Amino acid sequence: MFQTARLKLTAWYLLIIMMVSLSFSAVIYRSLSTEVERFSRMQRSRIENRLRNTVVIPFDEMTTPPPPAIDDRELVEYIKHRIIIVLGFINSSIFLISGLLGYMLAGRTLQPIQEMVDEQNRFISDASHELRTPLTALKSTLEVNLRDKDLTLEAAKSILKESIQDVDTLQSLSDSLLTLAQYQSPGSKKPFEKIQVTPLLAEAVKQVSPLAKKKRIAIHLQSDTGTVSGIRYSLLDLFVILLDNAVKYSKQNGTIHIHTAKKDKHTVVTIKDTGVGIAQKDIPHIFDRFYRADSARTKNSKDGYGLGLAIAKKIITTHHGDISVMSKTGTGSTFTVTLLA
Ligand code: ADP
Repeated sequence: MFQTARLKLTAWYLLIIMMVSLSFSAVIYRSLSTEVERFSRMQRSRIENRLRNTVVIPFDEMTTPPPPAIDDRELVEYIKHRIIIVLGFINSSIFLISGLLGYMLAGRTLQPIQEMVDEQNRFISDASHELRTPLTALKSTLEVNLRDKDLTLEAAKSILKESIQDVDTLQSLSDSLLTLAQYQSPGSKKPFEKIQVTPLLAEAVKQVSPLAKKKRIAIHLQSDTGTVSGIRYSLLDLFVILLDNAVKYSKQNGTIHIHTAKKDKHTVVTIKDTGVGIAQKDIPHIFDRFYRADSARTKNSKDGYGLGLAIAKKIITTHHGDISVMSKTGTGSTFTVTLLA
């Protein structure tokens, strides 16, 4: 498809360039040949005049015809022919060079679109793969139980309850996929605003506190007043993802420290937990879509699908910021977010 689009774009480039080039050539040919003919007429009459003036006609030869007219038609035609050849050569060169350049430029123009389409195709295939597995499992559980003649009402209710939980998980997966898709598309860009960082972080802490309380995890927020520039709800999403992970991957009675600092024109937010940590081999991949480190993969899939950090990374990219992680298995992880103040 892209090859066809590239060839079509090149053909359009060529058509436009050749139309311009041929029109110019026609104008050049007309003016040059008029000039040549005018020049030849001038020369002819000058030579004829000179001959008329220099030829001494004896009295007795007064009746002889004047000197023969000079015929340079052949020369004029030859020059015109040469002009056509030169213009033809110039046009073929323009055709060849602009064809090659047009093909190259068309490739460059289409490349970002091709990358975007490739990325979207990968996203769709990853997403459908992730959705298919739990859906198939859910379907087969329901089918098996439907065929069971001895199924009691109580057992059926419990299966339905479990199925609803599975549907809830699938719903949260599709919500995450929609969020990620929304950040993937370069479309609508919301204007950035200056946001007070402390209330923003306090709001994120509030959202994860029910789970933190359940695990008796203490969250300490130490933040001086400062700002970050960006889209409020996206930045809230970002901090909720990081805090949610910090809570999820911490054991009971863990501690999470949130700290903010100013650095030049940036605000740096660090989120440090005392959780399970991330193995060095996993660190380069945790921001990839659907990647879950071994420690997390062995856990229940209800805890996540490996989309949180991919969304976080997209949010950081749209905010021209930076995110990095330092971690040690068994000790904990520190995520550092740098955003424009
Ligand atoms: P998930 O839904 O699995 O949490 P994420 O994209 O949020 O997906 O994270 C990707 C992986 O990175 C997780 O599966 C986990 O292995 C690892 N991870 C992220 N945050 C932490 C953390 N604070 N502590 C330990 N591991 C983490």
